[in-house]
Parts: sequence; structure tokens; C-alpha cells
Amino acid sequence: MLKLEDSYRHKGQRKELVKVIKEKGIKDEAVLEAINTLPRHFFFDSALDSHAYEDKAFPIGEGQTISQPYTVAFQTELLQVNPGDKVLEIGTGSGYQGAILHLLGAEVHTIEYQKKLFDRTKKFLTKLGIHLHFYFGDGSQGIPEKAPFDKILVTAGAPVVPQSLLQQLKIGGKLVIPVGDRKNQKMLRLTKKTATKIIQEEFENFAFVPLLGAEGWR
Ligand code: SAM
Repeated sequence: MLKLEDSYRHKGQRKELVKVIKEKGIKDEAVLEAINTLPRHFFFDSALDSHAYEDKAFPIGEGQTISQPYTVAFQTELLQVNPGDKVLEIGTGSGYQGAILHLLGAEVHTIEYQKKLFDRTKKFLTKLGIHLHFYFGDGSQGIPEKAPFDKILVTAGAPVVPQSLLQQLKIGGKLVIPVGDRKNQKMLRLTKKTATKIIQEEFENFAFVPLLGAEGWR
């Protein structure tokens, strides 16, 4: 297993970050504890780790970003993860969000469209001892052969809600997804009450990188 240093300084910075996120409105204690536990600087190049505890998104290569901690907390809170939930994450990216879901006790299935990121993150998280189910491909259509899922989390901005994702949700399941144009999206939470009845709730605006693929931006 990979050993990385988590110093007093890092732990202190993480506590401060949790305070900031709490002040912005995150209430779920389990989510706050997961952010307090997971060293975000592990997901940064060591030369850049001074940025790890700023409440900001940060480039991770291949034109992609590790989401802002507040955004991770907001999406995770909306998802209402229970231990043992089978969760599909679209957009593995750095692996930070997937690791947070794992810490909350979920069985995490995560899919990434960029081969280099997929390879790098799978290798890195496995070395850290964080075992997720990793897939490479277009997650805008979900993973039909692994469905159904209790929860689905999309971490890239979609033009519309992909119907495939709704189909792959269990009854009672929740889909959290930012939907809008390429620059600005509204966070939506869709709850599948029955096979045909979906309740949609709308939350604040965010700015994600685009969800590409067959049911995303082409
Ligand atoms: N969850 C990530 C994290 O914790 O670092 C942040 C994700 S980043 C904001 C969005 C990710 O979605 C990028 O890595 C991008 O390559 C990926 N992506 C975009 N379209 C996708 C698709 N159709 N299927 C899977 N991943 C996709």
C-alpha cells in the first residue's frame, strides 16, 4: 500500500476546510466527517499540495478538474448515501469523490471517459488501498450490465438528463446531476418513486466540465 504523509499541518488545514464548507450550508455530519478524514492533498502533485485545502476546483490534467470540495459535499449530501448502497459515479476524474462515497460505506462503481485519467486513478486509488469498481468508457449511458443502482452521481455537466441513467436506477433510488449549458448548470435531484413516476428537485447553479458522450455533449 502507498504511504503518503498526512502531517499536522494538513490535518489542521482540513479542519479549516470543513469549517468553511459547514458555513456554506453543508449539514450532513457523515459527509463532513468523510471530508475531514480523506487527505485531499494525496490527490495533488506534491509541488501543488498547498492548493489542496482551498475550497476550489483544480486542474488534474487532460483538461479536467478535481471538483471544489463544497461541490463534492453538496452532491454527496443530496445523494443521501446509506452504507451498503450500490452507487454509480459518472466521471472518476481524480478519484476523490469516489473515495468519499467509499468512506461513507457505499459500493462504488465509477466510470471515466478519458483513458489516461482512468489508468492513472485506478492505479493510484488501488495503491492507496481504496478499492472501487473502475470502468473505462462513456458513462452518459450508465453501465447497463451492472444496473440497477441505489444512487447515481454525475460529476460532469449534462445538456439533459440521460434516460439510460433513470432506467438504471432502482425504485426509490436517486440521481444527482448538474444539467444546463456548457458553462452553467443547475443541480438536479431525481427520485424514482415508481417505474414511471420521477420527482425532480432543483438546487443551486454550478459550473462543471461537460459530460461528453452519446447522452451528453457530442
Ligand atoms: N469526480 C471527479 C473527482 O472527484 O475528481 C471530478 C470529475 S471532473 C469535474 C469530470 C470528469 O467527468 C472528468 O474526468 C471527465 O473526463 C469525465 N467525463 C466526462 N464525460 C464523461 C462520460 N461520458 N463518461 C465518463 N466520464 C466522463
